[in-house]
Amino acid sequence: MTRTALLLVGFFSWMSLLSCGRQASSQSTQRENTMQFYYASLINNQTIEVKSQVALDKPPTLELINHTTNQRATLTHKAHPAKLLHHFTLEQPISELSHHLTVAINNGTTTHEMPLRLFKFYDHPDFTNHYLPPNTIQWGVMPTTESTTFNIWSPTASDITLNLYEDGVNSPLYESYPLTRGARGHWQLTLQENLIGRYYNYSVTNAGQTHTLTDPYAITTGTNGRRALITTPEIAFRGRRFDSNEFIKVAPKDAILYELHVRDLSMSATTNHSEDLRGKFLGVVQTGTTNQYGQSTGLDHIKDLGVTHIHFLPIYDYNSVDEGNLQDNVFNWGYDPLNYSVPEGSYSSNPADGYVRMRELKAMVDNLHEHGIGVVMDVVYNHTGPVTDHYFQHLVPDYYFRMDEFGNFSNGSGTGNETASEREMFRRYMVDSLKHWATTYQIDGFRFDLMAVHDIETMNLIAQELKAINPYVVLYGEGWTGGGSPLPAHLSATKTNTYQMPDIAVFNDDIRDGLKGWVFDAKESGFVNGNPEVHARALFGYLGALQNIDGHGDGAYAKLPTDTIAYVSAHDNHTLYDRWLESVPGESFEEYMRLQIMANAMVLTSPGIPFLHAGVEMMRTKNGDENSYKSPDSTNQLDYDLKNRTQPLFNYYKNLIQIRKNHPLFKQGLLPNGNHAFEIVKGSQEDPLFMAFRVIDHTNSDAWQGVYLIFNAGENTHTVNLSGGEWRLFADTWQVTPDLTESTFRGSITVEPKSIAMLYQPK
Ligand code: CA
Repeated sequence: MTRTALLLVGFFSWMSLLSCGRQASSQSTQRENTMQFYYASLINNQTIEVKSQVALDKPPTLELINHTTNQRATLTHKAHPAKLLHHFTLEQPISELSHHLTVAINNGTTTHEMPLRLFKFYDHPDFTNHYLPPNTIQWGVMPTTESTTFNIWSPTASDITLNLYEDGVNSPLYESYPLTRGARGHWQLTLQENLIGRYYNYSVTNAGQTHTLTDPYAITTGTNGRRALITTPEIAFRGRRFDSNEFIKVAPKDAILYELHVRDLSMSATTNHSEDLRGKFLGVVQTGTTNQYGQSTGLDHIKDLGVTHIHFLPIYDYNSVDEGNLQDNVFNWGYDPLNYSVPEGSYSSNPADGYVRMRELKAMVDNLHEHGIGVVMDVVYNHTGPVTDHYFQHLVPDYYFRMDEFGNFSNGSGTGNETASEREMFRRYMVDSLKHWATTYQIDGFRFDLMAVHDIETMNLIAQELKAINPYVVLYGEGWTGGGSPLPAHLSATKTNTYQMPDIAVFNDDIRDGLKGWVFDAKESGFVNGNPEVHARALFGYLGALQNIDGHGDGAYAKLPTDTIAYVSAHDNHTLYDRWLESVPGESFEEYMRLQIMANAMVLTSPGIPFLHAGVEMMRTKNGDENSYKSPDSTNQLDYDLKNRTQPLFNYYKNLIQIRKNHPLFKQGLLPNGNHAFEIVKGSQEDPLFMAFRVIDHTNSDAWQGVYLIFNAGENTHTVNLSGGEWRLFADTWQVTPDLTESTFRGSITVEPKSIAMLYQPK
């Protein structure tokens, strides 16, 4: 091809990208005209299923039109299993998925032409036996100084063209090359050329339409993720090699998690972070910063608190923030994934240069590791941000997503689409993407958004593969969906199936809602803010969902303390402080601080893995904003001046974290005899706003013989009988002071209303 022709190819593929909006609207008009039929889809290689909107007494007739070969064929009506579903048989099996096929359906009066779709075919052995490529292919780009190889999978595409660019933003196309189609939808191209540092994307033609898309296996891109950089981690990090010794060696049972958004840490004027680092990966690791009172901020503040891992809200490349326009307020949580294996550009100092986002994220992780802090990534494989304009849909239409019974995108994520982890190529994709994050950046753990959209088999495969890389990996997820999903409940990685996923924890919404009130009714209180009706749920949640209230396994979904994440607040919904304002209005700031202490005193002594929402240690507010996903920095950022009036709260959490780290007895669950290591103190359940536990050390590794943990959330004074010997107070309502030995008790302790008492007995 001449250079002019090559430029024209680029021009037209760019035009097709630009005209997506118009195509979509013309498609929807077409759909309105053909509303008597929901879809026509291949179901095996010789049968087409058509679904009509109303029951048809007389079978319709069907003609298959092949626009690639200009042939038409009338099909035999085979059966209508229900009067809405009609099956038609082809004379010959379809052997070429890349042909542009439509069907013309005649219901006796009118003819409707519709695309022949494949979503019902992808799970059939006629597809899985013939179109899945071997597991040995390394997808993406493999550059060396001599040659560059590109591999991509699409059994449906009729043409895939590589487009090359000088930069990652807007330089014109300078060369393009067709890829060669091999067996099972594997397309390949090797150029005898050093292309390291150039950018690329693909033009992919499916059913006669060409779209430009980013390689799903891209590891970094230029601005807004539209062009991938030709590189490898070794090249990006200048030859540096990584090994498993670089992970943080904190096992899940010892983890204490702190959930943070990159921007929130350093945007506020209440911290003196360097202006150029604010909101960036590198701002996370700036040290020596303070508020106006000279108190530590940023990383120093987190280190002082003593958590083991920072869990970051999405840091993969998401869609909502325009990376080319960062001077505006550009806050977003980032739950709209674009490129799953690429770092988000807006957190780097230069989104245009694909190397910069990789190197700055790597520097952040390395630096946190040097400070002894692990990194957990919030990953959102359950849906894509854009969907009809996402690379998955342009590459193999309908393959990567689940469809509902009408052939529309199903909505298990609540955002308009859901991915299909049970399909082999997406399952492999999730595993490969996660392995990339683990091996390239030494990410220590992953939090799976709406994990119940994924299937159990995929989640267990992920755990197995990641544990092989890092035996300390911390894995957990939301054990629920965001809407109804076609994935059968018994296959779903949902909360109640946790016991089938031994290496993955689920968020314990029972302790969350039990302690502060049901999350969907902000006015409702929980145990801590004085609701006697939630005692059972609070107790079940506090004990790590290991036993039901009667000490039995019925309803319990956890087997080990590490099966659940103990928490009362997170980025979703009100901050904990804002929740007190909603549920128990009119109290003093000091009273709210008391509630805030008790809530996480319970979280930090619970057997589950404790999780703190950033800022909860200083009464963070979002001024009542319960869904701040795109609210301005002024709402979301951490206000460090709050530290000046919340020191008792911070110190309480800090000291209790230290005690948890030093005492394995808190991390005990069920004993070999089936009893819970946390014994409910006799008589303490008579008052629903009172809980008391005795925990004896069965680990043989604790310096303490045992502890009493007493939480009195109500108005009554209680006396708790203590077992033999002397017990020493290590925490009361306002202080955790493990060295305080003068407060000792024998026989019993009297606990005032609305107070905490925790005691220990040394060995
Ligand atoms: Ca982005």
